Amino acid sequence: MAKVAPFHSKKPGTSVYHDNNQCTEGNNIEKENRASGTGGHPKCDHCKRLS
Ligand SMILES: [Zn+2]
Repeated sequence: MAKVAPFHSKKPGTSVYHDNNQCTEGNNIEKENRASGTGGHPKCDHCKRLS
């Protein structure tokens, strides 16, 4: 597992950001909806467990 720069989804309703390339939720974000940075969101629970 590897930590990556924070990213989040631009999709409405998104409330978390991801920072691990093993996060299935983060990996499910379509490329066109993926934005860098935290977006002001808390870290995703799955990423918290991975890090
Ligand atoms: Zn995540």
